[in-house]
Amino acid sequence: LFNFSAGPACLPIDVLQEAQEDLINWKGSGMSVMEMSHRGKDFISIADKAEADLRALMGIPDNYKVLFLQGGASTQFASIPLNFTTAEDTVDYIQTGSWGSKAIKEAQKYVNVNVAATDKPNNFTNIPAQSEWELSSGAKYLHFCANETIQGVEFKYTPEVGVPLIADFSSNFLSKPVDVSKYGMIYAGVQKNLGPAGCTVVIVRDDLLGNSRPECPAMLDYAIMAENDSMYNTPPCFSIYMCGLVLDKLLKMGGLSEVEKNNKAKAAVIYDAISGSDGYYNCPVNDAVRSCMNIPFTMADSDLEKEFIATAAENGLVQLKGHRSVGGMRASVYNAMPMEGAEKLAKFMKEFQSNHS
Ligand code: PLP
Repeated sequence: LFNFSAGPACLPIDVLQEAQEDLINWKGSGMSVMEMSHRGKDFISIADKAEADLRALMGIPDNYKVLFLQGGASTQFASIPLNFTTAEDTVDYIQTGSWGSKAIKEAQKYVNVNVAATDKPNNFTNIPAQSEWELSSGAKYLHFCANETIQGVEFKYTPEVGVPLIADFSSNFLSKPVDVSKYGMIYAGVQKNLGPAGCTVVIVRDDLLGNSRPECPAMLDYAIMAENDSMYNTPPCFSIYMCGLVLDKLLKMGGLSEVEKNNKAKAAVIYDAISGSDGYYNCPVNDAVRSCMNIPFTMADSDLEKEFIATAAENGLVQLKGHRSVGGMRASVYNAMPMEGAEKLAKFMKEFQSNHS
């Protein structure tokens, strides 16, 4: 069975098998990995290795803190202004889809938000060219969503704007190499490419820390979390442990260039099936910004979409229904989706078309 869910998403089967053993008896300790104290040396070794492996995989410079937090990416939508601004400050946001829009709505509660560019008039099918962005002078940061999970719109470059860049990488985290040194902060809920829901990774440049508002809750204060190695309170232990297994595997696979190569090849198989269908299937997203992770598509005869999704499921291709806000179909092909899954979907699309023509 191939699971095309947008998240929580499939995890590598060997990782699940290892976790299955550790759940009962972690490395012969006689204890479940879920019942170990987060302050004990065993769990500390798990958390330290996860951080070291993430640093190695992404080439994270020493002047960045790596935090493993709770609250999901959505909590960061509020934490970001609370950590980096005062109520009088202005910040720039680029709006390329639903998640960026939610980040804007949350930030507006705390700070003056300038939406420097939006693709809303085109139903979020493109990314406005950087030359058209209307940046504010003196903005504290610029925020964008690196991959819009619902619309399938992905930044293919890193903007250069002269203020700290903050990016939501929730749905393309660890899908390709990223130059962390170009960012003030990168964050991602782990439940797509890295592990089970419950943990959010924050990678933040250390000179940005220590300016949180007095009213910023301790749990949302990145400086407090950094001082306490993400263990100000009980961390999401099991999720961190699982992330550690995946990180170890990604390193052994040859790192993020290798991961990117696989992801591009998988996505191409599905995009080719769409473009080779003579308009039977359509992807609304502009070619240049099509996501390698989330592939939305519709059918010329939308009455057939329900049957397409149901028949695909009968054939072991599940969770292909598009997000309720946009309809149609969506194939999410995160790191753990094997090429075989993408090929099977492309084959099914062709067969479905010929059976209905
Ligand atoms: N940002 C993006 C790009 C997402 O895809 C999601 C969830 O799917 C979120 C933010 C929200 O993440 P969470 O559920 O961890 O709050």
